[in-house]
Amino acid sequence: MVIRVALSGAAGNIGYALLPLLASGYVFGSNAVELRLLEIPQAVGSLTGTKMELMDCSFPCLTDVIITTDPLVAFNNADVIILVGGMPRRKGMARKDLIQANTKIFSSMGKAIEEVASSNVKVLVVANPANTNCLVALTEASKIPTKNFCALTYLDHQRAKGQIATRLGVSANSIKNVTIWGNHSETQYPDALSGGYCVAKDGTKVPLSEMLANDIDWATTDFIYDVQNRGKAVIEARGLSSAMSAAQATADCLRTWLVTGTKTGETVSMAVYNDQGYYGVKEGIVFSFPCECRNGEWFVKEGLQLSDFSRNKLNITEAELVEEMAAAHELIGTSPVKIRTVSMSTCSSGLSLATTATESDMSVCLTSRM
Ligand code: NAD
Repeated sequence: MVIRVALSGAAGNIGYALLPLLASGYVFGSNAVELRLLEIPQAVGSLTGTKMELMDCSFPCLTDVIITTDPLVAFNNADVIILVGGMPRRKGMARKDLIQANTKIFSSMGKAIEEVASSNVKVLVVANPANTNCLVALTEASKIPTKNFCALTYLDHQRAKGQIATRLGVSANSIKNVTIWGNHSETQYPDALSGGYCVAKDGTKVPLSEMLANDIDWATTDFIYDVQNRGKAVIEARGLSSAMSAAQATADCLRTWLVTGTKTGETVSMAVYNDQGYYGVKEGIVFSFPCECRNGEWFVKEGLQLSDFSRNKLNITEAELVEEMAAAHELIGTSPVKIRTVSMSTCSSGLSLATTATESDMSVCLTSRM
């Protein structure tokens, strides 16, 4: 069985760094992968060079690479769609204008997904404004369950872990269950304290609220600011936007969501369609929550106790997303999406594409819709 993976914006910075992770087995194990690379006509020339490089890598699982400028070709029967291509924010461009330009693009992406993708396609939106682009796409793809979509806040999650690990002088991998709440924008709330913990060398889990007890000022000011503004800091230092880390986060998000799942008790941050009013957040927006992943599905982890400080931060990012939603809906003329969370069974009754995965627990769960 071949997993058909479509990637829009494949000729861009993130696309270039992401393609080897998709083709090498890092995400999908030893399952065969067919890549459909979607671009605008001006980028097809450079993408042809990238295709040559992919062939020159001789990835054992890569069966085919198709370059196209037509979403209907790229998404035809696609199992996984990664939407990285979009209108970038130019200097002096207001966020409203960015939303306007991208709503048009993501409306047509959503319609194409609806028309030709596999009924169980999984869609990860990376292009900014990621949450609202995701909302537009899932609104237009009305046959696909909203559970099959998410927007990337995994990079912010990793950035938060990195900042805390550096502060505490431990490895980033020992930091667990930090949460990015809300929008992938400067209003996001990186939260170390509500559920975060550090795994000590002897395996003990120590809450970050204890480890940072004498450093609460940092955890509630500079830490939050630095994670919110990390993308800008990378641009200032590098002269280019984050690409390696964004590609790695995209690959890790897909791998965790669709292949390995989260380990028991662990969460990752994913921006998902809020159909349940989780944590009192307004329904109908795509909001980043702490999520567990099992059998190719995400589940918002409920029950974290939020302080007044945290609640206030959630309100700020929620308000921005509600505003973005209103702007997008005005443009596409669609009322808030009807909830389509089809009750999905687990891999055992669905379609598991895994046959010879490289890790024993690697099975790609692209569960059938009904
Ligand atoms: P880039 O400009 O290098 O690449 C974008 C590519 O998209 C270009 O090759 C362009 O030709 C293509 N494109 C534009 N419109 C398209 C369309 N309608 N269909 C198909 N392709 C189209 O940008 P990048 O550095 O690769 O970043 C891509 C996006 O990811 C940006 O929107 C960026 O803001 C966003 N981003 C998100 C995160 C996150 O964590 N969610 C992190 C970093 C970057």
